[in-house]
Amino acid sequence: MHMKITKEFRWEMGHRLPLHDGACRNVHGHSYRLQVEVEGTVDEQGMIIDFNHISAAVKPFITKLDHAFLCEESDTEILSFLRAHDMKLYVIPYPSTVENICRLFADKLQPFFAQHPNVACFRVRINETASSEAVLEIRP
Ligand SMILES: [Zn+2]
Repeated sequence: MHMKITKEFRWEMGHRLPLHDGACRNVHGHSYRLQVEVEGTVDEQGMIIDFNHISAAVKPFITKLDHAFLCEESDTEILSFLRAHDMKLYVIPYPSTVENICRLFADKLQPFFAQHPNVACFRVRINETASSEAVLEIRP
């Protein structure tokens, strides 16, 4: 039996897009929602994968991002300020768009899902606002 399950996570995070020509160049934050969707074969125990195992794989990374500032490494002005004031930050090599945050999570989770033989594919679905969402599908 082929099915899909979804586990949801939420966190708060600051960011900005320094090269954006609109409001997103300002320092601001979002209440992010992540839905990890997993498609695969239901085994003899009635599961594709244990929801608790998904949580164990995702939550440590959520903890690193929650109430942090997600900062592109080229945004040296903000980086030096945050470091000078010992503030929580997470540095990435690309702009902190919701598409790239999907990529960030997919890269973290790919090795985990690759170990599970029931899993055919997983999707990282992230809402940056109630009406703005990005989805990345990975076949591990
Ligand atoms: Zn934003």
